[in-house]
Order: sequence, then C-alpha cells, then structure tokens
Amino acid sequence: MFIGHFALGLAAKRVTPQVSLAVLFAAAQLADVLWPILVAIGIEQVRIDPGNTAVTPLDFVSYPYSHSLALLIVWGIVFGWIVAVRSRREVFAVIAGLVVSHWVLDYVTHRPDMPLYPDGPKLGLGLWNSRLGTMAVEVPMYLAGLSIYFSATRPRDGVGRWAFALLAATLLIVYVGNFTGPPPPSVTALWSVSIAGGALFLAWSWWADRHRDAI
Ligand SMILES: [Zn+2]
Repeated sequence: MFIGHFALGLAAKRVTPQVSLAVLFAAAQLADVLWPILVAIGIEQVRIDPGNTAVTPLDFVSYPYSHSLALLIVWGIVFGWIVAVRSRREVFAVIAGLVVSHWVLDYVTHRPDMPLYPDGPKLGLGLWNSRLGTMAVEVPMYLAGLSIYFSATRPRDGVGRWAFALLAATLLIVYVGNFTGPPPPSVTALWSVSIAGGALFLAWSWWADRHRDAI
C-alpha cells in the first residue's frame, strides 16, 4: 500500500492537530522509511520480480525488522514515546497506532509475505493481485484522509494552500505512476529512490503543514 498509509496520517491530524503532518506521515510510513535503509545496508532483502503481483514488481524476500507485526509494535512504542515526551501524553496512542497500522494495511494488500515476527509465519490477503481492487480501496481512502485533513486545518498563506495542494497531487501522481511505470532498473536504484522520495515527502509535508493552522 502507498497512499493508503498517507491517508491515515492525514486523518490523524484531526485528533492530534498539535503534531506536524510530517511526524504523522513518518509514523504511518515508518516501516517504509526503515525498509530502504535496511535494504541498502544488506539487513533486509528484496528482488525485482515483474509480475510478483499485479501491482508490485517486487519480491519482498525478507523484511522482518521493518515489516513484521512484532517489530512494528516495538517501533510504535518507541516512536510514540519519543513524540509524546516532546508533545503531550495523549499523542502516544495515535503515533503508536499509526506505526502498527502500516502492518494491517500491508497485510491487506501484500501476498502472504508479511511476517508476524522475525522467522515467523507470513500473512497477506493479496489485494495487490487486482489493480482495480487496489485502486478502489486506496484512492477513496486517500480522498477521505485529505478531506479530514482539510476539515482540521486551514491555510495561513499561499504556502499552506499551494505547497500542500501540490504535495497532495504529487502523492497521487506518484501512486498512479507506480501502476503504469516500468519496474526499477536495480535494487540500488530502488532503495536510493525510496530513501530520497521518503525524505522529500517528509520535508515537504513538514513545510506545507507549518503554513496551516488547526481549526
Ligand atoms: Zn510497507
């Protein structure tokens, strides 16, 4: 899943307006922030395998630290705690919940390659076997997340309006591009682009969200 994770981050702004959208995105996407780093240093493995499912050309050979349920619960507690001590205690549950939500959403979309714990059983409902089914779930989720975010914040200036609108549109374009574009040329290209793209979206969301006020 891709924009479905961002959808939950956007929606969470309603309950924790004091937390930057970048932090909410980082929580919902923590698994996919850690993953390319762990692939780059050789701790986790992925193979380029066009047709692995209808949606992804990737075979997630091993990703127990970024994508097992057990480790995501641990990362959720750690990240929730880090954010809560800098903000308010109540945000702990929201941040931890977002981190763990990544597993639940990926469990729905991936074929059975989502580990419960390292070396444990792998699960997945395989929504990715259907492009139409995947879009039918993710696009409405994303639009719902955006509408909740819009109901929770308003732009303070042009940056808040246009930088945010451009970010929202870019995420959607990248998502559609994933469906239509060629597979990545190499694993190195994959993790490089994933790290750079993740950093870009976090910085961009931090910047745009700073120019919006909670309603
Ligand atoms: Zn993921």
